[in-house]
Amino acid sequence: MTRKSTTRDTTEQSLRKAMVVTARQLDARGLNRGTSGNIGVRVGRGLLVTPSGVNPMSLKPSSMVLMDTDGQNLGRGVPSSEWRIHRDIFVARADVGAVVHTHSTFAATLCVHRKSIPAFHYMIAVAGGDSIRCAPYALFGTQALSDGVIKALKDRRACLMANHGLVALGSDLSQAVAVAIEVESLCEMYWRALQLGEPHILGKSEMDEVIERFKHYGQHRAL
Ligand SMILES: [Zn+2]
Repeated sequence: MTRKSTTRDTTEQSLRKAMVVTARQLDARGLNRGTSGNIGVRVGRGLLVTPSGVNPMSLKPSSMVLMDTDGQNLGRGVPSSEWRIHRDIFVARADVGAVVHTHSTFAATLCVHRKSIPAFHYMIAVAGGDSIRCAPYALFGTQALSDGVIKALKDRRACLMANHGLVALGSDLSQAVAVAIEVESLCEMYWRALQLGEPHILGKSEMDEVIERFKHYGQHRAL
């Protein structure tokens, strides 16, 4: 092998291309529809964010908006209205390289109840703990919404946003997408389980065991 297959090309241009592919994947999988949702990727000392109001099929690598962590637009285009969430996550979380935000159906169904999702299934640990929290409602695009999301993401890789959708984090785009897909699937399972009454919730020691096991096996192996 002349080159490790795990070698990551993190140049800005390759990240821009990956964001186009990811936006189309999220649309094809039904996690986002039309112009809903957005993606952010850490690049250098700033970030790339998907543009506001552009359909995934019309996106190009050059559509992605380069910003610094002060919120200055360093390039062309209008960034997604939720750029503050992406910026604030990258500032607060050195472990995060990519952020995916969706309005996926089952996450949106549960988040209108403004409740955290408990450990009804061991895979909840994919989000980093024994629950997936729900951030308080605030108007889209506001600093108040971002502040609530940052709190709900403490020690987590995902959270719901009241009456809105979900946010998923990863060290890179593929991991953030995998977390988003898994969380949306968990939301569907929880919604289905609630049709039959209150499900059994795993206890703290049971979830501690899962979280410990995930640390050894790595999150990707669990997904
Ligand atoms: Zn949104």
